Amino acid sequence: MPSVIDSLLRRVEETRDEMAQFTSDLVKFPTVNPPGKNYPECAQFIGSRLQEFGFEVTYYPAQDRPEHTAEFPRINVMGRRCGKYERPSLHLNGHFDVVPPGEGWTSDPFSGKIENGRVYGRGSADMKAGLAAAVFAADAIRREGIELGGALDFSATVDEESGGFAGLGWLAANGLVSSRNTDYVIIPEPFGPDRVCLGHRGVYWFKVTALGKTAHGSMPFLGESAIEGMSRFLESVHRELIPALNRRKTVMPVVPQDARRPTLNINSITGGQDESTAQTPCVADRCEAVFDRRFLPEEDFQDVRNEIQGLIANVHNKDTSLRFELEDLLMVPSVSAPSDGALVKALDRAAVAVMGKNLQKVASPGTYDHKHVFLQGAIDQCVAYGPGELLQAHKPDEFCSIDDMVTHAKVLALAILDLTGSTS
Ligand SMILES: [Zn+2]
Repeated sequence: MPSVIDSLLRRVEETRDEMAQFTSDLVKFPTVNPPGKNYPECAQFIGSRLQEFGFEVTYYPAQDRPEHTAEFPRINVMGRRCGKYERPSLHLNGHFDVVPPGEGWTSDPFSGKIENGRVYGRGSADMKAGLAAAVFAADAIRREGIELGGALDFSATVDEESGGFAGLGWLAANGLVSSRNTDYVIIPEPFGPDRVCLGHRGVYWFKVTALGKTAHGSMPFLGESAIEGMSRFLESVHRELIPALNRRKTVMPVVPQDARRPTLNINSITGGQDESTAQTPCVADRCEAVFDRRFLPEEDFQDVRNEIQGLIANVHNKDTSLRFELEDLLMVPSVSAPSDGALVKALDRAAVAVMGKNLQKVASPGTYDHKHVFLQGAIDQCVAYGPGELLQAHKPDEFCSIDDMVTHAKVLALAILDLTGSTS
């Protein structure tokens, strides 16, 4: 249907200024997380626009989550537009929380300034532009008077930056985004209009506690320093673990390239006395460090954990006075949508129609809300595809190009038609 496609793409193009303005308006809500400010106002703003655009809108406070408080309520908004049939059903989701602005801005991070074909501000790229582009992609179809075959759901959710458990995680845990009602999910995170993100590496956060024995600091030989113990463990991480990790490489198309290897970050380390108080001479009897290990789809989680346990055992066996405890803090497996699945194929067809080329398939070094869709929702056809550059995310003077938004919205509009069976 070349004429339908052409006029739909023109429709999207016509929404350019509205789309940019909507992004700018979204940026003006400082939905800073932590702690999760201005969520109800922002959810309401998105909800009323969805309503205006023909969605049936429901608000979902994350009632049973501890982070949902009277001071900082966690409010998600979801809209549904029914088609002729209930399936196939496509869900578009974006988060509206943003990370704190930080230092180094040359203008107000929440002004939503539109200049030089860009919308500026904290959260513009990550990912209020994506939300806006998805809203207007969906509405271009309505404006064009096309009836949907299947159903289209849209949700704007909270807390992605802090794990998404009260956001998309909550919707998935409560059956609102589930394989029982949803076939495909697209999350417009900022990978740029010509790249689609299939998934991410796995995450294992763990805490190692070195245990010592305290004694007077003037006679350290009478005690066992936990800080010394930790430094022995860190030495073996440096000498044995890191080189082993560097020898492994995934076939997953993770970008940047360096993230195709497993990584380990020492997230925090604390030991001995609290440095903000007066110091007394004591041998440290406790030292704790939190580690962030990212693992590849080719690595089995039990092996990843055993490797750490083995390292600890080796350090202890060499010097049995050194004692350690290992505590698991978080584990998220690696997830990936099938690159030859119907979702990726539809996006590719749409990209060819709009840009004359297939999308580059990439994967993310870190996790995002995709995990909830896969783990809780049991939906394997989920990808991230959105406007803006990933490198802009969380940086000062963050921006999103309006051209990117329009291109993305065009591809998305065609993909919505295709995936909801509206073109047949
Ligand atoms: Zn994001």
